[in-house]
Amino acid sequence: MRDALKSATYKPALLKALVRRTREPYVARISLLDLGGEFARMYWNQTVVYHLRQASSLRKEAAVVKSIREIAARYKTRSLADLPEAGKIDIVKKLTAILPINVLAAFHASKPANMPELYRWERGWPYVEITRDTYQFLKTNALPLELIANFYWAELLENCNRLAPRIIQKISRDAASRRSLQKYLKILLADTDVKCFYCGVAFDALHAPTVDHVIPWSFLLEDALWDLVLACRRCNAQKSDWLPSADLLQKLMRRNRYGLRRPTLPVSFLIADEEVEQLYQAAISVEWPRFWSPA
Ligand SMILES: [Zn+2]
Repeated sequence: MRDALKSATYKPALLKALVRRTREPYVARISLLDLGGEFARMYWNQTVVYHLRQASSLRKEAAVVKSIREIAARYKTRSLADLPEAGKIDIVKKLTAILPINVLAAFHASKPANMPELYRWERGWPYVEITRDTYQFLKTNALPLELIANFYWAELLENCNRLAPRIIQKISRDAASRRSLQKYLKILLADTDVKCFYCGVAFDALHAPTVDHVIPWSFLLEDALWDLVLACRRCNAQKSDWLPSADLLQKLMRRNRYGLRRPTLPVSFLIADEEVEQLYQAAISVEWPRFWSPA
């Protein structure tokens, strides 16, 4: 990993995929389809949920990212689990097809001469062969090996997603795990004159309040009160993980400046406007889906 050409993320991805296969009992042959399945799980989140680029050129995106974007758009879903079976098969096939071209032969290229190979693979094999010793090595050292792979993966992604926050966390997570926003609901409801931040509808039995991240959670990866507002279900669902329009961002900053800085509130909304603006611009710079406003 240390001496590898830092041109693509396939090497750390393959290391992680091999480590993950040791969650299954030992088999001498790991099929490329199984490795493709692991690739699909790792790259899907990074591409569809976190909108991370895998190539430093804006024009030339990695083949995996192109395939995943295309399938996510075709089936209109952000969750790999919700993808229809045909879509899942399609994505795994596409990612499996990349392995013999760019990944398997190149993996050992930077290996020191005295280090044994992790697997054997020859052109045309629909599997890689690993020995029982290698399997044991991967299984025993799963945690440090994943950390090493994450480190080099993050180093690469920092080059092509300069302004995306928390890259290492985005790479390390298998799936987006969100905390409940219930406690923020109480805090926000303590304000006077509560209504949907986006469309202004008053909350009642028909329009229950929900908590929404104005700058998407999947970009910030945190629940920060300065970013949280009350929204009706309709706006919350429609906005999804989009960035809001610029006027909504201004409204958020006004809210944070004046609206909720009350001594009765148990927490502070304080954040510098400059920081909010910069985070918003950073999301735009990484081509986050943008400029939503209520219909
Ligand atoms: Zn609304």
